[in-house]
Amino acid sequence: MDKTAFVTGGSRGIGRAIVRRLAAAGYAVGINYLQSEALAEELASEIRAGGGKALAVRGDVANREEITAAIRQAEAALGPVEALVNNAGIAQNDLFQDTPETLWRRMFAVHADGAFHTIQAVLPHMLHVKRGAIVNISSIWGLRGAACEVAYAASKAAVIGLTRSLAAELAPSHIRVNCIAPGVIETDMVKSLGEVTLAELTDQTPAGRLGTPEDVAAAAAFLAGDGADFITGQVLTVDGGFIL
Ligand code: NAP
Repeated sequence: MDKTAFVTGGSRGIGRAIVRRLAAAGYAVGINYLQSEALAEELASEIRAGGGKALAVRGDVANREEITAAIRQAEAALGPVEALVNNAGIAQNDLFQDTPETLWRRMFAVHADGAFHTIQAVLPHMLHVKRGAIVNISSIWGLRGAACEVAYAASKAAVIGLTRSLAAELAPSHIRVNCIAPGVIETDMVKSLGEVTLAELTDQTPAGRLGTPEDVAAAAAFLAGDGADFITGQVLTVDGGFIL
């Protein structure tokens, strides 16, 4: 395969697993990071050592100029992006009435604006070749809502609205836009919840375990790949049955 993918927030957690999975499938991968430079560089080296192509590029998805420049840097080295995974994300845990405006805006800036920026950066090429796959990572809380995570859930719901609307707009151009709504996945993001809460969440999961980054990566690779050629505008829940 001679395709280039770009994964935002590819340095850690779910994004890191998605990068590995896409590289194993033969994609050249642009690995975006914000702060975890060493981890992103190490991952890029690992892929190159295995015979693949990868480049780590810094950029805040919330900053249009920065993330656009990062995508251009990756494209200059790896080729035009035909698979984009919007994975970068941040978490929140406080009451709505205590949520500062800065946090509310940052949630939307990273999740909703971030996807807006990256998609607009890769779309001209995708429209030109009439080919492309976009996978947005939302959350089950974006589907169902969640107390003490209103800003997070609302911004993740925005990502679902963006996915469905853009899928309808781009389907005639053979560009697919899909979304994944992960349940509770074992990464740094959920570590702060503590052992007791994680045990409770495990109990509430019909599959009897928490998800792994690899569980989400498998779904992302499927939605990005040709096997999902007739699938667009969908929200695929990867949660072990949590919100059934
Ligand atoms: P994580 O372990 O905390 O990793 C977050 C990643 O996002 C890191 O690579 C981080 O990069 C990057 N990032 C954060 N803000 C960024 C920004 N402004 N610009 C560029 N990169 C940024 O989180 P995770 O659990 O893997 O989550 C990945 C995605 O899945 C998120 O969108 C999250 O909301 C979603 N999700 C996670 C769960 C879960 O249970 N874990 C459930 C549902 C949905 P640096 O480290 O380089 O700064």
